Parts: sequence; C-alpha cells; structure tokens
Amino acid sequence: MSTMQLDIVTPERKVYSEQVEMVIARAAEGDIGILPNHSPFVSPLKITAVKVKKGGEEFLVAVSGGFIEVRGGTVTILAEAAELPDEIDVERAKKAKKRAEERLADKQREDIDFKRAEIALQKATVRIQVGKSG
Ligand code: ATP
Repeated sequence: MSTMQLDIVTPERKVYSEQVEMVIARAAEGDIGILPNHSPFVSPLKITAVKVKKGGEEFLVAVSGGFIEVRGGTVTILAEAAELPDEIDVERAKKAKKRAEERLADKQREDIDFKRAEIALQKATVRIQVGKSG
C-alpha cells in the first residue's frame, strides 16, 4: 500500500513523524480524507480528533486547532497543541471539562469569557475521546 509522510508539529515539539496510509481531519469546510498523491491543499483545522491509518491500523490524535497543509507528498499539521492517545492524562482532561462546563453554566457572572470556556470544553472533550481510544 502506498504511503505519505505525516508530520504533526506544535510550537513546543514534533508530536508525530511517520509514513502513513491515510489521514482524516475536520477542516474548516468539513471532513477531509487525505490519501497519498492528494493535490496541494491548506486549511484551518477544528479542535478535533484526527484519524490516522498506518500499517492497516487506525488511531486518533488530539489536535487543538491550527492548520493542515498537503504539499509535495507530505501532510503537515501545525497545531497549538497535539497529543497521541498514550500521552493524554484523561483525568486532567476530565477536570478541565468540568471546569469549562461550570463556567459555561454560570450565567450570573459577567466576567466569564464564554468563548474561552467553549474552546476549553472542546479541547477537553477531544482529549478524553482520544485518551480513551488508546
Ligand atoms: P488544562 O486546563 O488541563 O491545563 P489546557 O487546555 O489549558 O489544559 P493547553 O493550553 O491546550 O492545555 O495545552 C498546554 C500543554 O499541556 C500542551 O503541551 C498540551 O499538549 C498539554 N496538555 C493539555 N491537556 C493535557 C492532557 N489532558 N494530557 C496530556 N497533555 C495535556
């Protein structure tokens, strides 16, 4: 089966760099499946679980926004943060989710940044999903 290079990088580290068979990601305009020889492409990414197929097996990577680029046979995901399943502390993500939900429920207070809480909730939800998949 033909493969392509997948690099997932954050400002802090290289999270993943391997030859893979397929990448499925939630881009701004909808889900996109990328196979080897995909045409050049760049798009913002949602906070999402990216699905990767390698060696006939699929796994998820938690990606906290950023961009996906396909160029010269390489897929690059540049994200603010990204974690593989075995890197995720599910308990930490559950606590982050609870905090975010409490902030979103607390409509009496005016000093709460709801947008920020929404983003925190999305990140935590994706991390729990990916952490449990590992
Ligand atoms: P928290 O509220 O739990 O600190 P956060 O959403 O504020 O989470 P980020 O700012 O998105 O965290 O990420 C900061 C760093 O911590 C990144 O390197 C990210 O990969 C890592 N990280 C965040 N949550 C987890 C987790 N549950 N398990 C492992 N690493 C995590």
